Amino acid sequence: VRMDLITLNNGVVMPRLGLGVWQVSDGEAEKAVLTALEQGYRGVDTAKLYHNERGVGRAVHASGLPRDELFVTTKLWNDEHDSDKALRAFDASMDRLGLDVLDLYLIHWPAPRQGKYVQAWRALEKLYAEGRVRAIGVSNFTVEALRRLLDETDVVPAVNQIELHPWLPQRELRAFHAEHGIATEAWSPLGQGRGLLDLPVLAEIGARHGKTAAQVVLRWHLQLGNVVIPKSVTPSRIAENIDVFDFELSPEEMAAVDALDAGRRLGPNPATFG
Ligand code: NAD
Repeated sequence: VRMDLITLNNGVVMPRLGLGVWQVSDGEAEKAVLTALEQGYRGVDTAKLYHNERGVGRAVHASGLPRDELFVTTKLWNDEHDSDKALRAFDASMDRLGLDVLDLYLIHWPAPRQGKYVQAWRALEKLYAEGRVRAIGVSNFTVEALRRLLDETDVVPAVNQIELHPWLPQRELRAFHAEHGIATEAWSPLGQGRGLLDLPVLAEIGARHGKTAAQVVLRWHLQLGNVVIPKSVTPSRIAENIDVFDFELSPEEMAAVDALDAGRRLGPNPATFG
């Protein structure tokens, strides 16, 4: 299976597509990640919050793949933004994953009412300087929170992982990221299986290419320049979701997907959550 790569702002290379494992139990995550790695996936997106870092770690080891071919992301939870807590949370995640060096560590949410994400970022900068993580980034950061990090800290985030799908294309954040060399990673890239994929326009475009609605949406993301982490525990869907590197949407087809923008957020609003 082909896999496109992206070079992050510090030179580290990341797969354009990885497996997301939110709402997947430890045991299920182990199975899904192993299936995905067998199908050609090389990236996995977990978080302390998902309670499946152990299963992810077991699959990574069971796969027998060389460590440098894999790209593992995990995240710092909202109650651990104090610098000392963040450093301990990282150690605990690494113990559960069974890894020495992480590929990407993200602040899960800015939680602006707590007002501690700059502290949390300082801890991530320390881990990065010590070589314990190859790249550091954020998740759910608004333009305002990103500006504050850029103004007050030293390392520019490599990635901002945000809710992004055809119903919520995040034009403003994508433009801001492009201006500052931050990669855009899309969470809930398929709209969480909550009706997006049933829209007839996606099936119509797919039929022209011999592809499914899910594959059309993932292709749209890739052509926008996004990194994507679709979630599935179903082997046939895991395989389907990675089979998106052998076709191209035309400008008209991209525009037809762009037209689905409904300003519809499926998750919490990062300006107030946490
Ligand atoms: P998603 O958009 O990836 O949708 C997953 C759902 O879509 C599946 O449960 C299934 O119902 C359906 N699906 C998957 N493949 C399909 C296919 N080929 N055909 C038809 N239906 C299909 O939703 P998600 O899990 O919310 O997001 C993906 C990942 O993003 C998560 O697993 C997690 O890793 C990450 N995430 C991060 C945050 C964050 O705050 N940083 C929040 C949510 C999700």
